[in-house]
Amino acid sequence: MSQASLPFEDVRIELGERSYTVRVGAQLLDDPQTWQGLPRAKSAVIVTNTTVGPLYAQRLVDQLQAHYAAVHVVTLPDGEAHKDWQTLQLIFDALLREECDRKTVLFALGGGVIGDMTGFAAACYMRGVPFVQVPTTLLAQVDSSVGGKTAVNHPLGKNMIGSFYQPERVVCDLSLLASLPQREVAAGLAEVIKYGPIFDTSFLSWLDAHMEDLVARDLAALRHAVVRSCQIKAEVVGQDERESGLRAILNFGHTFGHAIEAGMGYGVWLHGEAVGCGMVMAAELSRALGILEASDVNRMRALIQRAGLPVVGPAWPAQDYLRHMRVDKKAENGAIRFVVLEGLGKAVMRAADDETVSQVLARTCAP
Ligand code: NAD
Ligand code: MG
Repeated sequence: MSQASLPFEDVRIELGERSYTVRVGAQLLDDPQTWQGLPRAKSAVIVTNTTVGPLYAQRLVDQLQAHYAAVHVVTLPDGEAHKDWQTLQLIFDALLREECDRKTVLFALGGGVIGDMTGFAAACYMRGVPFVQVPTTLLAQVDSSVGGKTAVNHPLGKNMIGSFYQPERVVCDLSLLASLPQREVAAGLAEVIKYGPIFDTSFLSWLDAHMEDLVARDLAALRHAVVRSCQIKAEVVGQDERESGLRAILNFGHTFGHAIEAGMGYGVWLHGEAVGCGMVMAAELSRALGILEASDVNRMRALIQRAGLPVVGPAWPAQDYLRHMRVDKKAENGAIRFVVLEGLGKAVMRAADDETVSQVLARTCAP
């Protein structure tokens, strides 16, 4: 089958009245069918950034003009550093300046930063307007655009100001990933890989068989990875929409990963890179706790490495890792709680003492 004719797949996210569809396919942006059936309004506002806007915004404007009398574009500065209250204000400025009303539909065209900010702006503007996610990074397609979390950062903490707010629709156009730097593709693959060991061994086997296709951005392989990731995230989140228990397993690899991100200084390692290495550490910890086979740890390490992700942590004293992990919100009475694997395909929360964690770090960090 030629990749241009790759049919799309729809994933239904069941949340009662707030249910919505994630459409996954190639060339969706320019397909009029993609944009049918959205809430009607006088105006639409596309929120994007200085990197993604010049590449794709006009094509979205061309499509939306068939449905909305006015289509505006708000272009924000690029980067996590701008995921803040001041930049959020630029969205509200534009909405008010253009006399947008409570039916105006917002379109988030960008990666997770744009998705999180646009979703939060939509939740707040006139106490809530509809919004559509058009995620343009692999990470946003498999992770941030599903689950309903929206936020901006505060100088004292990441994602501290936000709300739960669901989109009308998510459009994952795999063709838009063609312009993504390879490092960002690998970072997205870390979150894809995560879904296998925590939830679905047959997906893990599929990843073992198709990792090179994913790295090469084969559209059919990407479609399956995005569809399955969204399904698994939706299933986990659906059982625990507001994060009381089960949803925590989505943080597999993230406790070690946060330590790497914080210790290196945010942005030096991409989040997905830190999570990739963090998953190796969490798998090793599972083995140290006696609940995962060594061969399964090696299988995880090999898969993560094939994605182009780091599998060896920075050479810091264990104390430095422990210090960063203790401020993580999962710390409880001194012992740090981790998402670990009770065999491949099942994630559980376990506390681990500093001694055990230090031994794991000695095995998984550069000498
Ligand atoms: P990002 O949005 O910063 O995008 C990464 C880089 O790629 C940016 O420079 C961006 O401009 C560029 N880019 C995006 N699409 C492109 C394309 N198609 N071609 C070329 N360049 C492109 O980062 P991200 O990894 O997508 O998202 C990270 C953010 O997502 C963080 O703020 C994180 O907190 C958030 N997040 C939220 C959730 C959630 O549940 N809401 C989950 C995970 C992550
Ligand atoms: Mg993550």
